[in-house]
Amino acid sequence: TGIYHSLVKLDTKHELPTKLDLNTANFVLSQFPQAGLAEARIAFIDSSTNRSVSYAELRQSIYSLASALFHGLEVRKGDVVLVLSPNSILYSAICLAVLSVGAVLTTANPINTASEIAKQVRDSGAKLAISAPEELHKLIPTGVPTILTSRSSDGKMLSVEELIEGCYGSPEFLPHVPVAQSDTAAILYSSGTTGVSKGVVLTHANLISIMRLLWWSADVSASQDDVFLAFIPMFHVYGLVFFGFGLLCVGVTTILMQKFDLPAMLDAIQKHKVNNLPAVPPVILALVKHASKIRCDLSSLRRVGSGAAPLSKEVAQDFRRMFPWTELRQGYGLTESCGGATFFASDKDAKAHPDACGRLLPTFCAKVVDTETGKPLPPNKEGELWFKSPTIMKGYLGNLEATTATLDSEGWLMTGDLGYIDENGFVYIVERIKELIKHNGYQVAPAELESVLLSHPLIVDAAVIPVEDEETGQIPMAYVVRAAGSKLSEDQVIQFVAGQVAPYKKVRRVSFIDTIPKSAAGKILRKDLVSQSKYQLVSK
Ligand code: AMP
Repeated sequence: TGIYHSLVKLDTKHELPTKLDLNTANFVLSQFPQAGLAEARIAFIDSSTNRSVSYAELRQSIYSLASALFHGLEVRKGDVVLVLSPNSILYSAICLAVLSVGAVLTTANPINTASEIAKQVRDSGAKLAISAPEELHKLIPTGVPTILTSRSSDGKMLSVEELIEGCYGSPEFLPHVPVAQSDTAAILYSSGTTGVSKGVVLTHANLISIMRLLWWSADVSASQDDVFLAFIPMFHVYGLVFFGFGLLCVGVTTILMQKFDLPAMLDAIQKHKVNNLPAVPPVILALVKHASKIRCDLSSLRRVGSGAAPLSKEVAQDFRRMFPWTELRQGYGLTESCGGATFFASDKDAKAHPDACGRLLPTFCAKVVDTETGKPLPPNKEGELWFKSPTIMKGYLGNLEATTATLDSEGWLMTGDLGYIDENGFVYIVERIKELIKHNGYQVAPAELESVLLSHPLIVDAAVIPVEDEETGQIPMAYVVRAAGSKLSEDQVIQFVAGQVAPYKKVRRVSFIDTIPKSAAGKILRKDLVSQSKYQLVSK
């Protein structure tokens, strides 16, 4: 039939729920006791301040904040709440409190610029924002009512900390808001296969399903004595479903970092005896490059994960050689599939298939589709990967055109990733055929940079493509057509874009060109530019 099914069945414990009024927060909270937790067990520790929150405090915080949001701030079912904060010990409680009153969560990258944040506020229709104090200035111009994550120094603004300490902290104050599994739970942003960033609409069923899968994958490898380290940001689907929700079902302790910093990460691993490190390829490369200079004791590390971008086979092999006591497992997924799709259930499989990203997660089906004929392909043949699973998004917010271009009538998600599946069910990603650029695991949408470039009075046309980069995965390169007679320099173009976008989106290379190659329908022929850039870079 051309359909590949997951080879793993969930046991009854992990089966997908059929209870229709279960919301994501209730689901997570219902797992706390099932995981046999001592309530005093620590859920999160902030690596820089050493502040921590136990599972009991987390539960209490979710109840208090949910009650305060509902009774005090009148947040109602379907209202969108934007969270703008780096990782913090309250991040998870904030998200779960929002979900427990039936409101919709949208998370923003705290390093985005004020105009990028304003765009997300507008697009998502946020009614309330919850912001780290240092990011507040980006929300003020939007006029959206905002509360702070932590106390403000002048005490003028309401904060989550104060609301949690308020008098609402018990389950009887918790409003009962009926939530259907098909109701929207979160809107996370991704540019998908083409165009600018769009709101990926995820339902409670999607989030509960991915948590079941994370719980299953953690159960085959982790236990509640495990200590995880999280520099992966919780605004991104990877961090949110992993640290924010899923691992709470297992009962692990997570050490939080606000951003990646190699020396700080090594110190934290040693200090907290971290044994699980979900990572991204540039971090694995940094560990390999600095291995001989590392003075910290990393003997506690048992497992390192890699996702969000391709991990080179050579780097993986070097890593295994230099850190032989540690497993290295790759996973693959997309925001549109709640972050998951494939995973290695054992290190033995990972070692034996260094080019693969694991097998389909339970409940997933895949098709490998010939990009020319649209026909499903047999094992070992390359085509576009399509997935179906209970974790697949409902669609893009208010964008039927993008939704129908990405989800077919039978619910298959077209990933824009080229790959193949072998006869044993291992999944290989070969190339990204969609426009998306990934810099250090972060999404950069060429269309967004192109519209910034086109706003320059001396730029007539522009196209942005990825250029492979050893350290960061890819960097954005701009092809620019200057106005006649203009002397605009590469550096001026780079500075112009840098002034308007978050640092990870910066254009880092510029080439001037006479015309941008386009199809008869006016679509930029990116492939032509990619080949041209390879030629240019080699001949330099
Ligand atoms: P995001 O929605 O930000 O998670 O980005 C999803 C995209 O990241 C996928 O469609 C892939 O192009 C890429 N990606 C994620 N994980 C991997 C992986 N393990 N190997 C190759 N590409 C990956």
